[in-house]
Amino acid sequence: MRIPCPYCGERDVQEFVYRGDASPVRPLGEDGFYEYVYLRRNSAGVMREHWYHAQGCRNWIEVQRNTQTHEILGSVFARRVAL
Ligand SMILES: [Zn+2]
Repeated sequence: MRIPCPYCGERDVQEFVYRGDASPVRPLGEDGFYEYVYLRRNSAGVMREHWYHAQGCRNWIEVQRNTQTHEILGSVFARRVAL
């Protein structure tokens, strides 16, 4: 699988470290923290995922990928601030 890094361009998946689902937002207080840490959806289809380009630019990126076909629909830098 090839992953398009926004900084380096398209690279082999072996250069990256997979972190997981990028959609959960860390809660500010204790309410919802258990769900944030332990309860994740395992949905088939298009997901936003965090990947770390460990053997490249060392940026965290957010990749939109179809988990059934492994088709990658796009990627952006994962620089978001908690709301
Ligand atoms: Zn990169």
